[in-house]
Amino acid sequence: MSDAYAWLDRALATIHRACWYRSPTTIANTHSALVNFGSNNYLGLAGDARLQAAAIAAIQTYGTGSTGSRLLSGHLELHAALERAIANLKGTEDALVFSTGYMANLGTIAAVVGARDLVLQDAYNHACLKQGASLSGAKVLTYPHNDMGALGELLATHRDRHRRCLLATDSVFSMDGDICPLRELVALAASYECMVLVDDAHGTGVFGDRGQGVAGALGIDYPLIHMGTLSKALGSLGGYVAGAAALVEYLRNRASTWIYTTALSPGDAAAAQAAVALVQAEPHHRTALWRNVAQLKAAFARYNLPAIAVESPIVAVKVADSAQALAIAQRLQQKGFYVPAIRPPTVPTARLRLSLMATHTSEQIESVVEAIARLKFLS
Ligand SMILES: *Cc1c(COP(=O)(O)O)cnc(C)c1O
Repeated sequence: MSDAYAWLDRALATIHRACWYRSPTTIANTHSALVNFGSNNYLGLAGDARLQAAAIAAIQTYGTGSTGSRLLSGHLELHAALERAIANLKGTEDALVFSTGYMANLGTIAAVVGARDLVLQDAYNHACLKQGASLSGAKVLTYPHNDMGALGELLATHRDRHRRCLLATDSVFSMDGDICPLRELVALAASYECMVLVDDAHGTGVFGDRGQGVAGALGIDYPLIHMGTLSKALGSLGGYVAGAAALVEYLRNRASTWIYTTALSPGDAAAAQAAVALVQAEPHHRTALWRNVAQLKAAFARYNLPAIAVESPIVAVKVADSAQALAIAQRLQQKGFYVPAIRPPTVPTARLRLSLMATHTSEQIESVVEAIARLKFLS
């Protein structure tokens, strides 16, 4: 046997020693006894009978696979209808759907900037924004998390040495759940002639009176590259970019992660379209979700439990280190709660991360906060 792969065992041993080892936990069916505080299914739509029916009907009409790329044989009326619905939700001229949000960011960033350009990114941006930036070949500078002063200084120093400039940020930061100060960010973009890509993966369906997302909720009117996913509040799979017609037309010609891959499957596309309609027609899911956020905030205050931020359905609690994060997560699981431990390299320091859903009950929220407070202060 060759030793060419022997390094794998050594690398795994190193990961174990640092308490960074990860493996998937099976929890995900609706009959599971665990109360799930680790899901992105914010509005509960992933289990909605109407999304299921839309997916089944599309599969019966079109089959399970789309069988080709969009520019060749894979383009269906379903995709066009979904893109119109997303553009309408986001208030943009057009939209484009990708196989995943990850692919949407990679392909879009690599298409809109190149070697002569500049990307300025938040230190806490999602991994796929960062990878898209490095893939693009542009000069990439990272500013400290949400630090608009630092961003302004970087722009003053570097902007005029580059052709195009892209500011890239999460709207809701996926690990800490805090929000980007988008109004200040677009003011800087306006003075330095920058494009702005806002990753609204955790905002779509969750923020705004129609679920249009964080930028819509804040009334931002600067032209944005709106990016998001169909896989979180929308309960399906896929990613989108919405914006000006020229942007979308350009991406159809230049985004390789859209051009050279198979179109979204009929079932996923139809489920997502049903979800886009429901988030607008049924605001009560969103109302219930935000009621749960308010209740969690009150419970944290009552137990003196410090959260990094309570500005979204994602709430993170800092703990001493990776070992404590794992120990608490394990004890919580024994008590019937799934709360993931988030550890380096995903975040700089270990934390527990709760995601709330519209379908959590007030007893569930109360008991998970009490359990976390006990475990954190005892261990
Ligand atoms: C989940 C997520 C993505 C990736 O979306 P997928 O559709 O799951 O590939 C991108 N950005 C952020 C901030 C995310 O949380």
